Amino acid sequence: MKYLAEFRNSKLVSGVIDEITRTVSQPWVIMEICGGQTHSIMKYGLDQLLPDNIELVHGPGCPVCVTSLEMIDRALAIASQPEVIFTSYGDMLRVPGSQGDLFSVRASGKDVRVVYSVLDAVKIAQDNPSKLVVFFAIGFETTAPANAMSVLQAQKLGLDNFCLLVSHVRVPPAMNLILGSPSNRVQGFLAAGHVCTVMGYWEYVPIAQKYKVPIVVTGFEPVDILQGILLTIRELEHKSNDVKNAYSRVVNYRGNKPAQNIIEQVFIECDQKWRGIGNIPGSGWRLKPAFVKYNAEDRFHVEEIKPTESPLCISGQILQGLVKPINCPAFANQCSPEHPLGATMVSSEGACAAYYRYGRSK
Ligand code: SF4
Repeated sequence: MKYLAEFRNSKLVSGVIDEITRTVSQPWVIMEICGGQTHSIMKYGLDQLLPDNIELVHGPGCPVCVTSLEMIDRALAIASQPEVIFTSYGDMLRVPGSQGDLFSVRASGKDVRVVYSVLDAVKIAQDNPSKLVVFFAIGFETTAPANAMSVLQAQKLGLDNFCLLVSHVRVPPAMNLILGSPSNRVQGFLAAGHVCTVMGYWEYVPIAQKYKVPIVVTGFEPVDILQGILLTIRELEHKSNDVKNAYSRVVNYRGNKPAQNIIEQVFIECDQKWRGIGNIPGSGWRLKPAFVKYNAEDRFHVEEIKPTESPLCISGQILQGLVKPINCPAFANQCSPEHPLGATMVSSEGACAAYYRYGRSK
């Protein structure tokens, strides 16, 4: 397949590994932001091919993992209402809240449905005028344009029975938080290529300059990821902190302007709670006041939520690159994909799930 097979070519992989080995002269810690990149690294064993003095740590770029426990509990409460059809992407159904998950709500007889697109949820609302259809709008900058579009579509169709439970997160404020922490270990970042496809990478320039940390826009196939690591190592070795683009077949500096315009039309920046990490100022999007009738939080006044996280789960430290999944005492013991204690073990993009699936013990 064009643009796929060539980026999995073993000779190219070996060539880039050799170049990284020739370039690196001292230990460096690099964080890949995106959970999709984490899974590619584990799946292809890329971290094991790298020289020992390059350590990869795994960032908070898994949307299912960072959706706050409070928001999961709110989703459970809304999905339990008799007049509601609650719609969500599949991964969210297994994410543990304080008291069960969306699967358990469905098992109790409530109408919880998996959809593959938010526009499927709009269609369900058209087909079920006597029900209120709620879509769980989670995710980073990648899913925001489609979710914003769904609100405009519902408005155009005159649908009053469709709304979003919004829990959007943005990458740059999370990078600021990680780099500004006194316990930070990250010396270079692989930025998520799909996020930059939408937003461009101009937002990363002031972050790289402020913290003197190189940031390289990186794709998801083995050669993409290794190219991103190579460019990061070159920057680090030359004591440079530029923002580079190793995914230029997809990403440009300014990003997708029409997509950004739709986001700006519907959403406004807000503070956001990240699971395991806490509140990050300016790191979320919520619906603008003009779209209040599409806001599930306004339509359902859920009583005060007091979320309870498993005391064993250290996913917040994992998502900031401070420890690895195998450092969690519950990993592969009390916590597994069949019985997850935290969201990073549930999601197909979660770091704990990646370590478990690919049998990593170090
Ligand atoms: S292994 Fe389970 S309990 Fe430990 S950090 Fe990961 S999700 Fe949390």
